[in-house]
Amino acid sequence: MEGVAWLAHKYLMHGFLWYLHADHHLPTYKKSDSFFEKNDWFFVIFAFPSMVMYILGSIFQDPILFSIAIGITVYGFAYFVFHEVVFHQRLNWFKKWRNTYIRALRRAHGMHHKHLGKGDGECFGLLIFPYKFLKLEIEKNIRNS
Ligand SMILES: [Zn+2]
Ligand SMILES: [Zn+2]
Repeated sequence: MEGVAWLAHKYLMHGFLWYLHADHHLPTYKKSDSFFEKNDWFFVIFAFPSMVMYILGSIFQDPILFSIAIGITVYGFAYFVFHEVVFHQRLNWFKKWRNTYIRALRRAHGMHHKHLGKGDGECFGLLIFPYKFLKLEIEKNIRNS
């Protein structure tokens, strides 16, 4: 699912669906006061293939289709936790999560947000990111120990 998310983020969200994703890349002072972003529609959009797979998986009693449905659901939930809550802190949960992986994830997604436009970007994934971000945090741990 991380691979699917990477592809969707790079080629759909930063492609022809940019008009829904653009507000997620606005600097904070330009964001609207609303709790929701247009970008949140992607939770609705990506729920559809999952729903279809649950329905088809039930009708045809197919464990593979059903597993895909569960995979999309679980990934959606993980994305919500790590992206909306841990990184963007839209809810007050998990504020104390500061382990090495979380700090590296913050660095990596922070790099994605350095780019405000549709074009050149990096770190389109979320849970899996280039090793250099983890390495920086590991080196910091060693220096501080
Ligand atoms: Zn983006
Ligand atoms: Zn983000």
